[in-house]
Amino acid sequence: MRTLSAFILVLFFCLNHITGAQTSYDEFVRIKDIIPDIAVDLKYATTDNVFDQQKLYTANECYMLKELAYRLKLVQDSLRNVRSFNGSDYPEGLGLKIWDGYRPRSVQYVMFDIFPDPTFVANPDNGSGHNRGGAVDVTLIDISTGQELFMPTGFDDFSDAAGHDYPKHLLHPIVYNNREYLKSIMLNVGGLSYYIAEWWHYQLSDNNKYPLMDFQMK
Ligand SMILES: [Zn+2]
Repeated sequence: MRTLSAFILVLFFCLNHITGAQTSYDEFVRIKDIIPDIAVDLKYATTDNVFDQQKLYTANECYMLKELAYRLKLVQDSLRNVRSFNGSDYPEGLGLKIWDGYRPRSVQYVMFDIFPDPTFVANPDNGSGHNRGGAVDVTLIDISTGQELFMPTGFDDFSDAAGHDYPKHLLHPIVYNNREYLKSIMLNVGGLSYYIAEWWHYQLSDNNKYPLMDFQMK
């Protein structure tokens, strides 16, 4: 009997390992611990957001899967070396500003209740890449001033102009170049995937293999 219990216990641990169910809070990191100079401005930790101006997060602390954090580190290391781009000089280089990273699944339900359009807000029954810690919403900044570069729209502007397919001729050339530059560095240096309807959203291409999580930030 004791042998059988031991066998079941070993089987349980093996299955847990094989199915990837070992992903836990431990596999998440606080992005500032990996990239100290990254700008973090979680809009959902403030009332400055489109979801009825509700404060949906308990703290302006951005967490994500380690895998994604180290990819963003490659991007930030590369951006820091950009001293001149698109007609402007950047004495300390460019950097990323994060508007959203890991998002608790319970918050996804609140958001979908307010804005039930799956083009812009993932259905919480299936979950979003953000609920898995595998997605980020970002823009580019001048590191020396913290100023955001001009982009086609602000964050969470749910319009056609937010899409990567929004026509070039309808955008100012500087804005178009900024959008394309962000995309190329996130894809080519970060190895991430983009989302056609939102210029600010990037994610691990295999993020669906990670579980949906629901813990609040601290
Ligand atoms: Zn997003």
